[in-house]
Amino acid sequence: MYKKDYPWLKEVDSLALCNAQLDLEEAFRNHRTRRDSGYPKYKSKHHSRQSYTTNVVNGNIRIEGKKIRLPKIGSVRIRAHRDTLEIWKLKAVTVTKEASGKYYASLLYEIPESENQAKGKSKETETKYLGIDYAMDGLAVMSDGRRTEYPGYFRQAEEKLAREQRKLSHCERGSRNYEKQKRRVAVVHEKVKNQRKDFLHKLSRELADEYDIIGVEDIDMKAMSRCLRFGKSVADNGYGMFRRFLAYKLGENGGELIKVDRFFPSSKICSKCGRVKEDLTLSDRVYRCSCGNCMDRDVNAAINIRMETMRLKVS
Ligand SMILES: [Zn+2]
Repeated sequence: MYKKDYPWLKEVDSLALCNAQLDLEEAFRNHRTRRDSGYPKYKSKHHSRQSYTTNVVNGNIRIEGKKIRLPKIGSVRIRAHRDTLEIWKLKAVTVTKEASGKYYASLLYEIPESENQAKGKSKETETKYLGIDYAMDGLAVMSDGRRTEYPGYFRQAEEKLAREQRKLSHCERGSRNYEKQKRRVAVVHEKVKNQRKDFLHKLSRELADEYDIIGVEDIDMKAMSRCLRFGKSVADNGYGMFRRFLAYKLGENGGELIKVDRFFPSSKICSKCGRVKEDLTLSDRVYRCSCGNCMDRDVNAAINIRMETMRLKVS
């Protein structure tokens, strides 16, 4: 219907238009039926991440060697990140343009059931539980005593990003230098984003393969980043992403991610005797209890989260 008034719509893949319409309908449906979704917002041509999704119909999208064939566009050279099997069925492709100017295509495949099941672990052994406490400075502390932190190169890239952003703030908005610097910021930003994602994928894979049930605190990320003091570190360290990765990877293995109530006082309880220490402050890095328990504050909390997870799972 719109093609008459907007002839340029004919230039694009018709399934891309179709998907955009379906997305819009879903947005309105959510707005009507769900209390937490607001009125659909317009996307900005300049600030939004640009993307479109198209579906495979009669083999119109194919991977041909080092190229991908897309409707209306033709063959585009690609750098594939992993191998696919002949029996997998390509269903849809989402093409995204990042602020750095790079294009990505993510491919959705349907994988035969039998192959999916084979990935699940055999369930003969005892269920293994892990509790994770979220730390402000690093990322997470585990109930088995392990601590994870972003690698040094990530910190360096982060510092570089801050430097480039500072430079941008000194450029005159709209000038040529401003645009050039903006692109530079976008490139570093993307690098940081990818490094974070890579790290979180590897960590969540490792944990999901080792444990069956993992418990985390159900932290309200939005409320936390509103809290001024921790604003940046909370918003940036990808804890939400980490939990999403963990949840689906555990699910694939037949395990589960459990969210412990956000009001569960994980850091105040003594993990040895169960006493509750009401006067614990954020600056107490070591948990000391009159029962003789003396351990790292975050490890103590992680052990409590693990116990609470077991309780939730068993009851
Ligand atoms: Zn105690």
